[in-house]
Amino acid sequence: MFRYCSLSAEVLTKAGRFFPTVLSTKAGRFVAAVFFATATLFSFLPSAAAQTSLFFPRNLKKAYDKGTRSWDGKPGPNYWQNRANYVINASLEPKTRRLSGEETVTYFNNSPDTLKQIRFKLQHDRYRKGGQRAYDVTPSDISDEGVRIENLTYNGQAVDDKKRRRASTFLDIDLKDNPLPPKSTATMTVNWSYTLPAGEDAARECVCDSTTFFVPYWYPQIAVYDDLRGWADAPYTGTYEFYHEFADYDVTISMPPGFQVWATGEWQNAADILEKTYSDRWTKAHTAAEVISVFSEKELTAGGVYKNAKQNIFKFKASDVPDFAFAASDHFNWDATSVVVDDKTGRRTFVSAAYNTASTDYPQVARIAADGIRLMSTYLPGYPFPYPSMTVFNGNDGMEYPMMCNDASTAPRSPMTLTIHEVSHTYFPFMMGINEQDYAWMDEGWASFFDYTLSDSLSGHTIGGVRGYSGIAGTDNDVPPMVKSRNLSSAYRNASYQRPQNAYLTLLDLLGYEKFHHCMSVYMDRWKGKHPAPFDFFNTWNDASGQNLDWFWRPWFFEWGYPDLAIQSVVNDDAAKCQVIIVERKGNIPVPVHLEVEHTDGSKQTIHHTAAVWKDGATSFRIACMPGKTVKSAQLGQKTIPDTDQKDNRFTTP
Ligand SMILES: [Zn+2]
Repeated sequence: MFRYCSLSAEVLTKAGRFFPTVLSTKAGRFVAAVFFATATLFSFLPSAAAQTSLFFPRNLKKAYDKGTRSWDGKPGPNYWQNRANYVINASLEPKTRRLSGEETVTYFNNSPDTLKQIRFKLQHDRYRKGGQRAYDVTPSDISDEGVRIENLTYNGQAVDDKKRRRASTFLDIDLKDNPLPPKSTATMTVNWSYTLPAGEDAARECVCDSTTFFVPYWYPQIAVYDDLRGWADAPYTGTYEFYHEFADYDVTISMPPGFQVWATGEWQNAADILEKTYSDRWTKAHTAAEVISVFSEKELTAGGVYKNAKQNIFKFKASDVPDFAFAASDHFNWDATSVVVDDKTGRRTFVSAAYNTASTDYPQVARIAADGIRLMSTYLPGYPFPYPSMTVFNGNDGMEYPMMCNDASTAPRSPMTLTIHEVSHTYFPFMMGINEQDYAWMDEGWASFFDYTLSDSLSGHTIGGVRGYSGIAGTDNDVPPMVKSRNLSSAYRNASYQRPQNAYLTLLDLLGYEKFHHCMSVYMDRWKGKHPAPFDFFNTWNDASGQNLDWFWRPWFFEWGYPDLAIQSVVNDDAAKCQVIIVERKGNIPVPVHLEVEHTDGSKQTIHHTAAVWKDGATSFRIACMPGKTVKSAQLGQKTIPDTDQKDNRFTTP
């Protein structure tokens, strides 16, 4: 998610420019001596139960004892996850906004557990009267029944009311009398309907105008049952979103004539719906490098785009994705192109932008999305984009779904940062099945890292800013990210976006691009299509980097605190015939030392050391300047390095 609201100024601050230290020349090798002070800030009490020096929650240990997770960060030898496959038939009536569907779900209990219930998520039930909500909703969007369930069967038997339990946004089926054994399969059918919320407060879903819709969270979806906690129990209240089981989808969506549908997955029947001119354009765009208009609003108005039919019935298929969303409009423009995402195989991703003519930024979006996907595949994270299709739809939010984004127009600003942010979510939380309800920093932090680094690269350093962390760092709203996301409210945003984005940028600087990329690739190879949790991330990066990074993870993710460096003094080293700048670490969160030095003879020098100088708990760091020169001024820090007190970052010769 990327909310444009009161936070937009903070989110889009262009103050920072990524300093590509990994590519920078470290002008000169300066003798640097680290003073080892007492390492109180970095000390810890190792848990007797856990093979990590980090604080380890007791309740997660059973997964390691049972071998479903490993201390080296790999999935354990006994790792399992459940799965659900969906066949869905749905229709949307634009005039009434009524969505109706029927689905067959095949659920695979791959766990070693006997399941005494099955849990469906009914996310639209946050609009049910009395429902729990993180945000206000428009009163007219609230209904007594929420999602109407008209039929529910389990293995061919109707599930009567006594066996159903509706609470918050869940529908549980009681299986106490007929539990689902380990390593077995169940089949369920559900018929349901509800009315799409149309109020101004609706976000994520969008009734964008009377004939344009973005539809997420729309079908009864099986909740995750995992090895760490059993059934996921965080209701959807509007903030904490994804944690879904991987699934195959076979979805049919019926719309009145004149409507186009865009959705997760690959469209199966373009030639049945579009006249040849337009289906040929659609086909051509699948291999084209340039952006092609599949159709424009003007062409839709003129008629002749669609074959005559009583209904436009769209068929989509998607494999191994954790969710399915769709969108529909009868007047949106459609641009499409494609991009090679895997140089080894030549595999391409089909990239679309669907938009209102009034959105003047949107003609750039297909190009930006395709170029962004290319950079994601080759640079950061530097891992082939996993999906065959990606559509950015001009909705009302900044919101990601597998292969779909609901992105508001950003005009007159560039849509680049928002587009990159939402598209890059493909990796986290989708390809890597992150539990965002508990650890949003494991996906929002990365999307924020990508939106900055990739926008910076794509735009030639003119677009993209680091989210400001200095202002909030060390306040009582700067909660360590390891506190579960669902337990945060006003502290959620910083813990999920700002602080982890700054941590990952510091990590890139620390490891250098090659090692960082290696660790990322190992992490993705190990956990693609699975559910990595925080210690799988920390331990994999420790393992893949060949170094124990706990000293870095601890202050950034587990501790209260803040980053704050200062120039303590500039002293003469008579023996070495040079001056020495002493940098003091006043805060516990480790950040790079970056100095711009000017000498009295007018010469200048840039000095950069990664956060590794603080690894062993040092509280000060000595930097020897050029022999024979006198420091006129020194400026510590840079806009991309958070520092809560910058008043002590400058030295000028008295
Ligand atoms: Zn996001």
